[in-house]
Amino acid sequence: MEIKNISFSYQDKIKRLDHVEAEITAGQITTILGPNGSGKSTLLGVLTNNNQPQEGSVVLDGKMINKYKPKELAKKLGVVHQQNTAPADITVEKLVHYGRLPHKTSFSPSAEKDEEMVKWALERTGLYEKRHASIDTLSGGQQQRAWIALALAQDTPYLFLDEPTSNLDIFYQYEVLELVKQLCEEEGLTIVMVLHDINQAIQYSHQIIAMKQGKLIAQGNPQNIVTKELIQQVYGVHVAIKNDADVGMYIVPLGI
Ligand code: ADP
Ligand code: MG
Repeated sequence: MEIKNISFSYQDKIKRLDHVEAEITAGQITTILGPNGSGKSTLLGVLTNNNQPQEGSVVLDGKMINKYKPKELAKKLGVVHQQNTAPADITVEKLVHYGRLPHKTSFSPSAEKDEEMVKWALERTGLYEKRHASIDTLSGGQQQRAWIALALAQDTPYLFLDEPTSNLDIFYQYEVLELVKQLCEEEGLTIVMVLHDINQAIQYSHQIIAMKQGKLIAQGNPQNIVTKELIQQVYGVHVAIKNDADVGMYIVPLGI
């Protein structure tokens, strides 16, 4: 996926993305980092064709993203937004079934394939036992996984996750990150996510995109681009960069 010279404003005409150039490598995990309001969700919106840029284009598998028919695109891209609201007391299984909508046609109600994919998505996210539970009875971590399951049932090669670990305690954060890693390694998914934790980004990403005030500050693999200077520039925070024989590189925030 190529992000070519994207500039984007909402109705207020303020430039929220300013000539952003980047590349999403197939089969890898790309993490977007940056302070609040830096344009991470806006960029994700452009990459999923929810935001139409005033300048530039996004090319997905050789074709401009705005040239895809909605259903065709929904077979390529699954998205889990920052805020997700389910209909009241819907079961996990029903929610995940929504992921099958792009695959339904009036001529071929592919019920068998739908059931198969829903079951796979529930199993992959560890929710199969919970399939009859109402979504509002689940823990935060389980709910997050239910939304990921919905996107997985959609059976897309690309998965976009906006702050999938926010509001989760540290155990569930790693549970989601391990799932993301497995989906990439075992299912070959291309994953683009937004994280706040720089160490988690270093640990789980092949590529990092660092944003500030709508501008791309750096893109590359964590070992190459995460430096004291970059974190200072992007977040205004002093950090020390450490290396551990077991976990590799990590940062220690020192203050502002
Ligand atoms: P991030 O996800 O990095 O926190 P966003 O992409 O949500 O940042 O927002 C980038 C900027 O665009 C912010 O200043 C935000 O207030 C603004 N913004 C976000 N959504 C809208 C909108 N629908 N209309 C106008 N401004 C918006
Ligand atoms: Mg956001």
